[in-house]
Amino acid sequence: MRPLDRVALIGTGILGTQIAMLAAHAGYTVKMYDPRKDAFLETYNKLEKDLRPKQVTPFIPWEDWAKCRQAVQQTTNLDEAVKDAELVIEAVPENEELKNKVFKELGEKAPRQAILATNSSSMPVSKMEASSARPELCLNMHFYLPLQGVNIVDIMGGTKTLPEVIQKGVRWIESIGCIPLTVKKEILGFCFNRVWRAIKREALYMWGNGFVDFRDTDRAWMVFTKMKTGPFAIMDQVGLDVVYDIEMVYYKDSQDPKDKPPDALLEMIKRGDLGVKSGKGFYTYPDPEFLHPDFLRPKG
Ligand code: NAD
Repeated sequence: MRPLDRVALIGTGILGTQIAMLAAHAGYTVKMYDPRKDAFLETYNKLEKDLRPKQVTPFIPWEDWAKCRQAVQQTTNLDEAVKDAELVIEAVPENEELKNKVFKELGEKAPRQAILATNSSSMPVSKMEASSARPELCLNMHFYLPLQGVNIVDIMGGTKTLPEVIQKGVRWIESIGCIPLTVKKEILGFCFNRVWRAIKREALYMWGNGFVDFRDTDRAWMVFTKMKTGPFAIMDQVGLDVVYDIEMVYYKDSQDPKDKPPDALLEMIKRGDLGVKSGKGFYTYPDPEFLHPDFLRPKG
């Protein structure tokens, strides 16, 4: 049996589902826990519906998707999910109080030697390691959107993480086909997330304060980088509520008014415009205008 063979995913939303699929594809034994019974299937169906029309080859070949989905065991019972786990990855919403509650439960319910990882986009694991009562076995494993091909993963320890826990985490990430980005000293935002965040903050600032239409920011980005999506389309994929929560973590840390996400973003969230997952964010799905050939065509 391979090291960290039995894996439990806690929270089967956008990220939990993708990580579970990757782990199942690599042949690991995967259990998923979510209080919402149909969370995994709902997210799986949404992902498939979103990716198929784009005719991209996803990270897991289409012919393997159903097999991976069937291999993932789902439960609404946390004890059942973690009782024999060697690695537990938490992917619940980005809220410090909730993450601490979950880490406390995992510390009580998971086997004593189990490694506890958080997929938090913004919080260093030191913010929750104490709740688990096993800080030496806690680390950040921060995935991006692996099934869309963004297969980089930030790995970062907390204040007491054992070096062998980081090494095991690095090997596990490599074994599921991802590229580990090891962060040597704890820093808010890890490795690539800090770079992405600087772009996101500036783009939101210009849109939220009426300087630039979000489409023009995306157009410029797409032409300049040759990417198929701009920052606003990427935020729609991430989920605008998740984006907002992450920006608030940076703002609370710095207290710099420039870091505060614009009120217009909060208004969108209150209206239920959450991005791809709700069918409407900056763009409307499943047929967003940035995918139309006209979007980048000069009018003249
Ligand atoms: P999501 O809202 O899609 O999914 C969260 C899931 O957690 C939901 O299914 C919800 O039912 C479940 N949940 C709520 N409370 C729970 C609990 N107590 N125990 C177990 N499950 C619970 O969120 P997401 O986008 O998958 O984000 C999850 C985490 O991953 C966040 O920390 C986020 O910052 C991080 N992350 C997200 C992205 C992204 O692109 N969306 C990328 C990297 C990291």
